[in-house]
Amino acid sequence: MDSGHNRREILAGIGAAALVAPAGAACAQQRPARKLGYAVVGLGNYATNQIMPRLKECEHARLVALVSGTPAKLERYGAEYGIPTTHRYSYRDYDRIRDNPDIDIVYVVLPNSMHAEYSIRAAQAGKHVMCEKPMAISVVECEAMIAACRKAGKKLMIGYRSRFEPYNRLAIELARGGHVGPTRLITTAHGFNIRPDQWRLDRPLSGGGSLMDIGIYSLNAARYLTGEEPVEVSAIESTDRADPRFRTVEDRIDFLLRFPSGVIANCVSSYSSGHNDYRVIGGEGFIHMEPATAYSGHRMWIRKGGEPRQRELPTPAKNQFVAQLDHLPECIRSGAEPIASGDEGLKDLRVIEAIYRSAREGRTVKLGG
Ligand code: NAD
Repeated sequence: MDSGHNRREILAGIGAAALVAPAGAACAQQRPARKLGYAVVGLGNYATNQIMPRLKECEHARLVALVSGTPAKLERYGAEYGIPTTHRYSYRDYDRIRDNPDIDIVYVVLPNSMHAEYSIRAAQAGKHVMCEKPMAISVVECEAMIAACRKAGKKLMIGYRSRFEPYNRLAIELARGGHVGPTRLITTAHGFNIRPDQWRLDRPLSGGGSLMDIGIYSLNAARYLTGEEPVEVSAIESTDRADPRFRTVEDRIDFLLRFPSGVIANCVSSYSSGHNDYRVIGGEGFIHMEPATAYSGHRMWIRKGGEPRQRELPTPAKNQFVAQLDHLPECIRSGAEPIASGDEGLKDLRVIEAIYRSAREGRTVKLGG
């Protein structure tokens, strides 16, 4: 008879699969499931420097197609990633992805105002959708994206990579579990000093300024650290309109969110100063992250009585990008709703619209809860 100890040893060894797998499953386990194919739309900085290289590391996904308006980029990245010319598309022939069975998922990495259109066309072509943040530039667009994916029977996920990053996952667990006492206050700031001459500063393409681009991390973190939806929003904008960068979009927008449990989140969004942090303050101490939502190098301190102590986690088998990219194929296979679903993107846009309204009208705006 197995003691618990022996059983653990056996499970940790090569016999583990045989012990837990049903009869006849051994062959299937040796033959991994087909990796689902991503088409990346928009070959800009984020797609080419962060997403495409990480697709090589995925367990459940691979890069199979490219969509770009620039033939030279299709040529360059097509050659680099071994994408045949039959799987390279311009925006004009984008809808032909419908006829390509290798493409399971379309990853939209375009300027914000193009997210809705390209996501909806992907769903209409019978593909699942991964769309970058912000999901779109209005609540109405987000709702149309959700409806299109639902109608097509396809999944929709938003590129909220921090939901797959181990320090953030731990912070969520600790904050929601009351590790430093029930959360009373969250302070969070996200920003950078933006360089001129780019679509982010052109409202028709960006849909807004720092809030749409970087302040959304403050908002999203406040929502995932509490697990609640804000019921009240109060915002102040401060933008130097003489600065040529800010002709059509805001620079700084500071906002307070009130959550149903009484937690207040005090949030900064900036295009003229560098920030990347959050602090969850409870009755017994705090959880501090800085950088909190960066690509790498996350650092966490916890104070629970006494001095703050740095908490270090082991390097995960999959970094946040790989885990995010693998999550959608896993959900497609299991039928589960992605952690960072279209509904999550929509909820952020609802609050973003309320933040802009509060700043514009100079008053607190109530939300549905
Ligand atoms: P980028 O400017 O580097 O790339 C945008 C791409 O869109 C370029 O290839 C450009 O050629 C193409 N494009 C097509 N039509 C265009 C048009 N009319 N005007 C301008 N460009 C056009 O931008 P990026 O930094 O790669 O951002 C793309 C998206 O990814 C944005 O929605 C951004 O919010 C998101 N993003 C997410 C993260 C993250 O960490 N999740 C990081 C960076 C960017």
